[in-house]
Amino acid sequence: MIDAKTRLYGVIGNPVRHSLSPVIHNGAFRRMGLNAAYLAFEVLNLAEAMSGIRGLGIRGVSVTIPFKTVIIPFLDGLEDVAGRIQAVNTISNEGGKLIGYNTDWRGALEALEEKTNLEGKKVLLLGAGGAARAIAFGLKERSCQVFIFNRSEEKGQRLAGEMGFTHLPFSSLNGLDVDVVINATSGGMHPKDSETPLPKEFFKKEATVMDIVYKPLRTKFLREAEERGCRTIDGLEMLARQGAAQIEIWTGKKPDTGEIKEDLKKALR
Ligand code: NAP
Repeated sequence: MIDAKTRLYGVIGNPVRHSLSPVIHNGAFRRMGLNAAYLAFEVLNLAEAMSGIRGLGIRGVSVTIPFKTVIIPFLDGLEDVAGRIQAVNTISNEGGKLIGYNTDWRGALEALEEKTNLEGKKVLLLGAGGAARAIAFGLKERSCQVFIFNRSEEKGQRLAGEMGFTHLPFSSLNGLDVDVVINATSGGMHPKDSETPLPKEFFKKEATVMDIVYKPLRTKFLREAEERGCRTIDGLEMLARQGAAQIEIWTGKKPDTGEIKEDLKKALR
């Protein structure tokens, strides 16, 4: 029940009305017996929103498009990894100080490592946006040999350069022998369900293939990887885990990710 002691959390973004974060957090809070509530805030003015978070004592905030990078100057501190990635998807209000964290990389790594050992593996990472940047950091932590392909070559080259990885032009992808392929682009995301960022002939049978797009859940990219005999991981695996890691930062307790995934599947139906 919401009462005078209820702690408030939320997500800031724009647009945000499609966000599944309230499903993740309110379901987990309820099961964990926490007196907490989580709302979605469509933010027009970031500076005003940050004053609101401080002024009202909001305990924790998820950060989504387009604020993951531009939010950094508004914070009082950055946890080490978020600083190195230069992207924040989580704010924790720690005694009035707003501290930025990144749980995207952890969510992606945990999802992958449930299916395969990443240490030293060869990985093709598609994309060079905020999510790709977080995942690239995680892959570096596991000493992976990473090839990046991004539609806008210059952006891809920049990320590859920062991480010590290799950016490949599309023409070099054919015949590339990798253990893991990750789609961290928006290619194939609803309403462009019929698109895929990588033609199916690029998938090798033994590969592990993860798509971080979760709408639709079975993207063309994942369906084609499955047809080619690959092991696949859908976007809910990362989504549930990055959300669970946020709750752990805010409350010190980790929720059950299996139950979060069930809530998400119901919400997506
Ligand atoms: P972002 O920073 O805007 O980056 C978008 C990336 O996708 C860029 O690399 C962009 O390439 C590429 N791209 C966009 N449309 C494309 C297309 N039609 N074909 C090929 N590449 C395309 O976004 P983001 O935050 O990284 O998010 C990317 C996707 O991941 C979104 O679908 C988002 O919903 C999803 N996501 C999922 C999770 C999860 O937990 N499952 C977490 C975060 C994000 P250019 O540089 O060429 O524009």
